[in-house]
Amino acid sequence: MRSISIFGATGSIGESTFDLIRQQGGARAFRTVALTGGRNITRLAEMAVELQAEVAVTAHEDCLPSLRDALQGTGIEVQAGASAIAEAADRPADWVMSAIIGAAGLVPGLRALRHGRTLALANKESLVTAGALLMATAQESGATILPVDSEHSAVFQALTGEDIKAVEKVIITASGGPFRDWSVERIAKATLAEAVAHPSWSMGQRISIDSASMFNKALELIETREFFDIDPSRIDTLVHPQSIVHALVGFTDGGVLAHMGMPDMRHAIGYALHWPDRGHVPVARLDLGQIANLSFQSPDAVKFPALRLARDVMSQRGLYGAVFNAAKEIALDHFIAGRIAFPQMAAIVEETLVRVSAEPAYARPAARLDDVMAADSEARRIATAIVKEK
Ligand code: NAD
Ligand code: MG
Repeated sequence: MRSISIFGATGSIGESTFDLIRQQGGARAFRTVALTGGRNITRLAEMAVELQAEVAVTAHEDCLPSLRDALQGTGIEVQAGASAIAEAADRPADWVMSAIIGAAGLVPGLRALRHGRTLALANKESLVTAGALLMATAQESGATILPVDSEHSAVFQALTGEDIKAVEKVIITASGGPFRDWSVERIAKATLAEAVAHPSWSMGQRISIDSASMFNKALELIETREFFDIDPSRIDTLVHPQSIVHALVGFTDGGVLAHMGMPDMRHAIGYALHWPDRGHVPVARLDLGQIANLSFQSPDAVKFPALRLARDVMSQRGLYGAVFNAAKEIALDHFIAGRIAFPQMAAIVEETLVRVSAEPAYARPAARLDDVMAADSEARRIATAIVKEK
């Protein structure tokens, strides 16, 4: 029986993963080791009972008593806190889903990789903050990383059986988000509700806002660079409002392979779950006759400065990815709290990158977790200071 763990089980990707596991037979077909979540204790406990997990972990110490109550008499271990989540990643599991949101997903993913596990990686922030470290860790231990971002799963599938040296171009698509056709002036006044209303994908709140600002695509450009080790000049993005073509890979003979599917994350999750085979995944089937139109356009770099900032990070590498992501997380917190306007998010990230660039240490390759964590904290401190100044 295959053993699995889900980090971030109660989130949008976590729920979709749970749904697929359940449809594949749940506790009869899989041995569930660890499930982790945040404050939604009722849901975490429900999932743990249904999958008969070995341990359920909440990220918050103050939630431990309620998790203990909810799981009393079930024989399921309960734990709380960031270190408990990291330790849960040391427990043997064949397949581990990394679906915590933000930089908090880095440590458990890294720990699973050290043990040589197969890591289904939805947490793109780990590749952005510590791409070199993550890839080197996987190589050393013989672990497998399967990308669970729709675009990266698409590129991965298009590259299967191909020689990476024959790749001329990798293009990841972007829906363009809710503000695709808005003017710069209108975007400047965008509200939280408008930013969360994604036109084609149903996702968690934070990633939905990142899609509106195209910070999500910016993270994904960096993710592509780190995961596939492709030169930034060969990586591009195209706005494709229908979200049907997820990525395109162009080869030296002029051929282009495009990956298509309905916008449903269960495809990428299901692909990673069945890999290296193709299993049955219950997503809606693509009907191109019905969709009729697929359109593409270049993104507007003035409206979406996050893309330009990502280009700088892709060429500089070092600790710049960690700084970029941390500053973005702080800026996003402040936008959600209503303290800054939508375009200020990019301004804060840019200013944070400028301020750290005075320090040459940020340009060195990030080989140690401690260096990444230090760069992450420093960037959070600087970004917070910039918000206060503004
Ligand atoms: P979400 O906000 O819906 O869920 C996040 C999960 O992480 C929850 O279980 C939450 O309790 C947990 N969590 C949050 N903060 C935590 C912390 N500090 N420590 C431990 N656990 C914490 O997020 P999501 O939309 O499911 O996204 C998860 C990851 O997948 C992100 O990295 C996102 O970029 C990536 N991703 C999501 C989608 C999508 O469709 N939602 C698509 C592609 C990639
Ligand atoms: Mg994506």
